Amino acid sequence: MISSVVILGGVTLQRQLTISEGYDEGEDWTVYPSKQSYTMDIHAVTADAEVFTCNAYLVSGDRPVLIDAGAMPGVADIINNTVDNLEAVYLTHQHTDHVAQLDAVLDQFDAELYAYNDHPRRDGTLVDGDTVEIGDELFEIVYTPGHASDHVAFVGDTRVFSGDVVVYNDGAFDDGSFGRTDMTGQSREQLIKSLQRLLERLPQTVEELYAGHGDIYRGSPEDDTTDSVKTIIERALMRAERREPKYSNNWF
Ligand SMILES: [Zn+2]
Repeated sequence: MISSVVILGGVTLQRQLTISEGYDEGEDWTVYPSKQSYTMDIHAVTADAEVFTCNAYLVSGDRPVLIDAGAMPGVADIINNTVDNLEAVYLTHQHTDHVAQLDAVLDQFDAELYAYNDHPRRDGTLVDGDTVEIGDELFEIVYTPGHASDHVAFVGDTRVFSGDVVVYNDGAFDDGSFGRTDMTGQSREQLIKSLQRLLERLPQTVEELYAGHGDIYRGSPEDDTTDSVKTIIERALMRAERREPKYSNNWF
């Protein structure tokens, strides 16, 4: 059996051929409405950074956008080498490690800037409950303060861009952690409520977590052998609810 997948717009065609039957017989084309579009790629453009930075994610597709700009010098050139144009930058929050390269990116591309809080170059406001198009998918904005008062997460059917409200791993925990809340203006109690809000608004179908730090996490809700993204967030919530410091020199 040969299986090939052809991508046409937002529709996935899966073609299954039985070799013994040849290509003319036994063809079975099935059209799946593509919940998980394969036309959008997600590039962690800060992956090779030698300075402290958040993960900045470049999402290609119908609407190429950047989630956070990061702090890695030269990131605008990497974006330029990866996509033809950049339509927008969405900020999860405006801590320095997320925005240090923002001016360089906006100087190089004619991209709109969207953020929850004001910014001199902002074109649009991110509002809780609104929907934004990232790559080929729609994401709901979920306001998630605590680590930062202007923090939002982007929640789609299959993926979440979580910024620093929840991360898969960091120096404190390997399988479900959360952003620091011990600095001025931060609040653990708010962060706990934000994680609860995120869980309430998380579709059952979410499989991938793209956090502002640490590794990308993939876990299918149907696969009993791996934790689902929901489980990772629940674990982060449980750990945050201990109301203990994460560690003394947490960077983010
Ligand atoms: Zn931060």
